[in-house]
Amino acid sequence: MEIYGDYMGDQVCKIPILHNGPNDSRIWFHCPLGNYSTKSAYLWLSLRHVGLGPHRFFWRMVWKLQTLPKIRIFCWRIGHDILPTYEKICNIRRDFNSDCPRCGRDKETLIHALKDCLRARAVLMHGGLNSKLLDGSHYWGVDWIKKVARLLDLKALSDFITVLWNIWNSRNNKVFWNMEEDAKVTWERAAALSYDFRIFNLLNEPSLPKPDVNKGWRKPNQGMVKINFDAVVKDRKMSFGIIARDHDCFVLGRHAGVLNRNYNAEWAELYALEESIKLAWDNT
Ligand SMILES: [Zn+2]
Repeated sequence: MEIYGDYMGDQVCKIPILHNGPNDSRIWFHCPLGNYSTKSAYLWLSLRHVGLGPHRFFWRMVWKLQTLPKIRIFCWRIGHDILPTYEKICNIRRDFNSDCPRCGRDKETLIHALKDCLRARAVLMHGGLNSKLLDGSHYWGVDWIKKVARLLDLKALSDFITVLWNIWNSRNNKVFWNMEEDAKVTWERAAALSYDFRIFNLLNEPSLPKPDVNKGWRKPNQGMVKINFDAVVKDRKMSFGIIARDHDCFVLGRHAGVLNRNYNAEWAELYALEESIKLAWDNT
């Protein structure tokens, strides 16, 4: 109570405890597997310092949602992928079965629990949701929410997150109390939470700006790293800059320098290329 205050402390105390759940252990919040490494700590501290990250528009949007604080926090937890799905628990406790407790058809990842599970999909479809919001396959929940936020305005997005929050609660009712509720009940509970709930449409300005397709820099594919470099020669000196970014424009490394060398432009570019290869090599 001293740390969290009365309200949040009370909520913590009310969290149901699984009888056959994993034992408590320390988890490093900033790594998907929960393991601490100095590299991930350095990355996290750097991000805090510069205030940028792979989902910076998403984080700004979360706190603008027109909904209850607990639902904003739920959305923030989606962004960090820290909701305790069975797949998440299985990463920490290897003998844990990661199959979905509701449909049993697939591993219960976050995207499965909120979007792909038949039970979740039934709720999302109940209110006549535009099918564009459910199209495509996503690995991370945050990528799906970002896509939806590029189609919905802030009010509709707030309602959408409220529906997801209710889907997660109905999933918890099944896991902790073995109660499975009808999709209609879950949807109507979400609608009752929002004062002027409206079915999601694609008519208004989206919450997140659409990606600028005319930008000179093009993202690499998922899982790839792209290194850009350039060099300039002036007054018998050459200078170069290198930057390595992933598919989210997240900066993974950079290097720059000035040398007293009277190269021509081609040799300067070649030098920058060599330094780029070294940067890639040093970080593999
Ligand atoms: Zn399922």
